[in-house]
Order: sequence, then structure tokens, then C-alpha cells
Amino acid sequence: MKLLSFKYEGKTLFGPKVKREEAVWDVLSIAAHYEKTDFPTTIIEGVASGLDFVESIRKLVIKAEQDKDAKKFKYAFSSIEWLAPIPRTPKNVLCVGKNYLDHANEMGDDTPPEKLMVFTKSPTTIAADEQDLPIHAELTENLDYEGELAVVISKGGRNIPKQLAYDHVFGYTIANDITARDVQTAHGQFFLGKSLDGSCPMGPYLVTKNELPNSDNLSVVTKVNDEVRQNGNTKAMIFKIDELIAEISRFVTLEPGDVILTGTPAGVGKGMTPPTYLKEGDTVKVSIEGIGTLSNRFV
Ligand code: MG
Repeated sequence: MKLLSFKYEGKTLFGPKVKREEAVWDVLSIAAHYEKTDFPTTIIEGVASGLDFVESIRKLVIKAEQDKDAKKFKYAFSSIEWLAPIPRTPKNVLCVGKNYLDHANEMGDDTPPEKLMVFTKSPTTIAADEQDLPIHAELTENLDYEGELAVVISKGGRNIPKQLAYDHVFGYTIANDITARDVQTAHGQFFLGKSLDGSCPMGPYLVTKNELPNSDNLSVVTKVNDEVRQNGNTKAMIFKIDELIAEISRFVTLEPGDVILTGTPAGVGKGMTPPTYLKEGDTVKVSIEGIGTLSNRFV
């Protein structure tokens, strides 16, 4: 199932894409119409219940499809404002650095990190697919992209064993871990350089894990103005998704709706000769097999 979050007539809503249509089902209005009072009211409440949430959406959509007024429950994409699938994470967006050897190499490290490198981005960085993003010229001259697979946590927990890690995954989306390289290095700590407003666009869809069982073998392609810059595959991750969840949850309680960015393959602007950073008017598109394409223009 492909889920999205969106705004319609001022309300923040969510629902699955309508099959073979450029439209979304408004599952909250379907639930209200059929008096399903125990249906989650926010996407975070929903992802907490994992595949039960997916199953209850599926049942509501079947009811709506059989309704002679089915049309009133769906909105054309042209009539909604897209949001990131998780519009606001419960804590900072969790990010893994140098999780692809070819990217670690282009950043100047010959050997892979022995320990997981984790940093975070403020939730105020979260932006939507197709949203114009600020170039922040007053703060940085080195704004860079990082196309990444993002994991959305379902059930939370501490000390999650690696063997049970996928029980805690709700699904996957695409992220661009936009980074001000000069700020990242000048301040000795990644947080400021990683947390400029709009520097974590995510979307367009949150694809449920049952539809993406091969999350450890997906192509990740990033284009800047239609020029391919990154062409990687999640199978090259040094620390796999189950290891990320196990290791991070040794230290930090994971909560439903938390997002983990899994690292970026080679091909970022800093790694080019000469380094080539984003400029006003550039469009960055990150495509991941089975999820879609996240596209943002810088203004
Ligand atoms: Mg990154």
C-alpha cells in the first residue's frame, strides 16, 4: 500500500493512493461515514499499530469502492497539498552517516566506519515532495544533496534485537538529507549544518513493508537537473536496516513515526571534482525502486 499525507480544505489528512488514479482516498471520512470509531486519527497513531492499520485501511477502501457515492471519498492529486508522509516526527529525524563505502571514500575516509555514525536533523527540516526549498544563500555556499532510503518505525522499543528489527518497521519512503557542508564542518558537530529549514524533504509515498520485502536491494538514483549524480543500491549499505534499528535502540527509545535515514551512496556534490553545490533554480530528484521519485526545486 502506498500511503500519503496531505492537506485538504485546511485539514491534515492521510490515506492510500487510489489504484490506477492520480487521487487519494480520504480514509478518515470513510471511517466517519461507516462509524468506525476506533480508526486512528493521525498517521503516527496508525503506524503504531503496524499491519493492522494497513488491514483496516484496506477494509475501509473496499467499503468506499462499493459505495454508490465513492467519488466523495477521494480527492484528485491536483486538489490536495502534499505533505511529507510523516509530517512531524516524534523526535529529531535519525540519520546514519557514511553507510556506503563509496560515499565514505569520496568524503575522504579510506576505511568504513567501525561503529555506526548517527546524527540528527530537527523535525522543522521536514518538507514535502514537489515543495520549493530555500537555498539559504545567507547561511551557506555549500548546500548539498544526499538521496537516501528512509525507514519509518512502527512499534517502538528499546534494545530491539536484530532478529526482531523488521517487526518494528512500518514502511519506507525517500529522503533527501540536504546538508550545508561548510556549516557541517565549521561547527564541529553536524546538527546545525543538517538542520536548515526544509533540509529533509520526504515522500512522495510511505510504502508499507509488505510491498517492499527487498528493501536491502533497491536502486537509489539522484539527479540534479536531470543529470545522474548518484546511482547506488541499498545492498551496498555497510550497516543493514536491522543492524541500524538494533544498534540505535540500544541507546535511544524508538517511537512510532520515528524516521531513520539510512545513509547515502557516492555522488554527492562535495565528492565531485571540483565540488559542485546546489544553486538557485536547481531541481533535485531522488528515485528509489518501488517507492517513486522525490522532487524539489531550490529557490
Ligand atoms: Mg545523509
